[in-house]
Amino acid sequence: MIYKTAQLIEVFSAIQGEGLNAGTRQIFIRFAFCDLRCRFCDSAHTWLAPATCRIEQTPGQRDFATHDNPVKLDSLLAWVMRQDQPGLHDSISITGGEPLLHAPFLVDFLPQVRKSTGLPVYLETGGHRPSQLATILTYLDSVGMDIKLPNTSGENCWQAHGEFLKLCYEGGVEVFVKIAIASITKTDELLQAASLVALVSPQIPVFLQPITPLTAVEIDRWQAPPPVLLPPSPEQVLEWQALMKRQLKQVRVLPQTHKMLGQL
Ligand code: SF4
Repeated sequence: MIYKTAQLIEVFSAIQGEGLNAGTRQIFIRFAFCDLRCRFCDSAHTWLAPATCRIEQTPGQRDFATHDNPVKLDSLLAWVMRQDQPGLHDSISITGGEPLLHAPFLVDFLPQVRKSTGLPVYLETGGHRPSQLATILTYLDSVGMDIKLPNTSGENCWQAHGEFLKLCYEGGVEVFVKIAIASITKTDELLQAASLVALVSPQIPVFLQPITPLTAVEIDRWQAPPPVLLPPSPEQVLEWQALMKRQLKQVRVLPQTHKMLGQL
């Protein structure tokens, strides 16, 4: 088979800190590569593939072993199975980088990991690659997709976001939207995002995620100094939530709770 290997960053067990699954325990499979360059990115080390990946040996112990990239499908399956202790995990998080850049691998991998663990599969994505999503949608239980506000992220994916959300919703998969917000966020872009979601369904949950200032380690992962973004003020957050709730049923404000807990 052609697609039996993938470029990986890491596998580990941790508490999900964002969105609808915040607080749940997941096995994280973080894939390499991203085709976006968000100004607030805290994972710039995922943009390219490293020579090696790190694999946790015992769930939550951070006792990582190093393995060469690319990794074989069977190896990844075995590493995930080792993490899968009875009753510990709520789901498997497929994350990155942009995991949909590995869609051909995921087509083979996801049905096998789902069958072997019995755990639901959650995709965490930039929400801008609908064609790739379509190839794996049937193997997903839930999707957390971003809407990248151009002025905040530096990326413009409006059309792709619209197609992507529609595909999730019509495919019957549980879906929610995350939107990173900062002091420079433009109200009109937030309203455009609200309209985009409402057009698909006003019931889809939206999470406004105030940016967390980057740590020294996260800044180090950038090749050049990243732009400095400040979190929004409490007044901005209150105003934006109120405005978006005119179009949407569920607009929640939730910071990255895993960072508060000191999680990876
Ligand atoms: S999509 Fe995610 S990994 Fe890619 S640049 Fe944006 S924040 Fe970073």
